[in-house]
Amino acid sequence: MWRRLRFPRRSFLGILFLFSLSTSAMYFIYSAPGIVNEYLFMVQARGVRIRENVRSIGAQVLDQVVRGAYSGVNGTDYPSDLNFSESFMQTTTYLPPGFTYHPDSMCPEKLPSMKGLMEVNMSEIALPEVERALLQDDPTLRPGGHWKPQDCIPRWKVAILVPFRNRHEHLPILLRHLVPVLQRQRLQFGFYVIEQMGDQPFNRAMLFNVGFREAMKDLDWDCMVFHDVDHIPENDRNYYGCGKMPRHFAVELDKYSYMLPYEEFFGGVSGLTVEQFQKINGFPNGFWGWGGEDDDLWNRVQFGGYSVSRPPGDVGRYKSIPHHHRGEVQFLGRYKLLRYSKERQSLDGLNNLQYTPHVSRYPLYTNVTVRLTRELATVVADY
Ligand code: UDP
Ligand code: MN
Repeated sequence: MWRRLRFPRRSFLGILFLFSLSTSAMYFIYSAPGIVNEYLFMVQARGVRIRENVRSIGAQVLDQVVRGAYSGVNGTDYPSDLNFSESFMQTTTYLPPGFTYHPDSMCPEKLPSMKGLMEVNMSEIALPEVERALLQDDPTLRPGGHWKPQDCIPRWKVAILVPFRNRHEHLPILLRHLVPVLQRQRLQFGFYVIEQMGDQPFNRAMLFNVGFREAMKDLDWDCMVFHDVDHIPENDRNYYGCGKMPRHFAVELDKYSYMLPYEEFFGGVSGLTVEQFQKINGFPNGFWGWGGEDDDLWNRVQFGGYSVSRPPGDVGRYKSIPHHHRGEVQFLGRYKLLRYSKERQSLDGLNNLQYTPHVSRYPLYTNVTVRLTRELATVVADY
């Protein structure tokens, strides 16, 4: 009797165990890829850090040994040429505090108002409160979050595009930090929040294409900054102007242990001139859900004959607001699309996108609401 019962119960438990194992694996792979990626990266980054520390300690010990040997021989100290820290190499010259601007000349890029590392305040705050504080600080801030310096001619007219769906507590935190930074950098700017409607997976890239087209109807911007809503800059010397090459601003992120995840990483915050963005046919429209669209933009930039420029790591530092919602599904088709980046570049992007936007102006940003579906950007090809 017992013997007969034991087998089925055990196999039932086994099946239950396997089932729960596979469903939790599926959950992490499909529904919560962000958590997995963050975790894997953290483990990897820890490893790299430990290895670096060991190497650096080893080098210092060696240095001491060699020094000791030399001074023992002829009594002179030998100069150390081992470089343990990059921060010694910083030789940037910022203008002195008393610098006076000229309304007829171009604003400098390295202003005395740009002090370096800043305090970041992640506490939640209501949007009207941020509006009030920023307008009180500088009443020349116009609807749509438009601003330009009065004391010199701005070097760049920058549209900040923010892809958005259901992250209402993040936006005021971003604006509270970024608006004063851009003012200190004496850039002309405007904010565009492009909000996805409908029940399709989130499409960050398509939202950026929409934002680009809508922003250009407003003003002849010359620089586009593609900015995640949860990335808060930590250093006001991270200059938000564009350049000869596409720019990657978010070099080091707290959640990635302040390390670049991989050399081709182009996510978080990036910027292209209008000319560069048009030349690469914008972002791809085919990435529905989490992941891959930033890698495709990297590929497009390379195929366009550009290379990506970055600020030094400690300048390109960001803190990311911890997400409360992690419901976005991973886009599993991204590997296939990435294999055909080159072939798709001319077929999918700014040139095949149709949409109907609803535009409304708020004190600190222009809101572009758009319902996204796959039919808005068709690609006539097998890939
Ligand atoms: N985003 C959003 N709502 C979503 C998913 C994404 O507003 O449901 C926007 C938001 O600007 C966010 C960016 O897309 O910062 C990148 O998405 P997410 O932060 O989820 O990516 P991760 O940081 O995990 O790579
Ligand atoms: Mn994020």
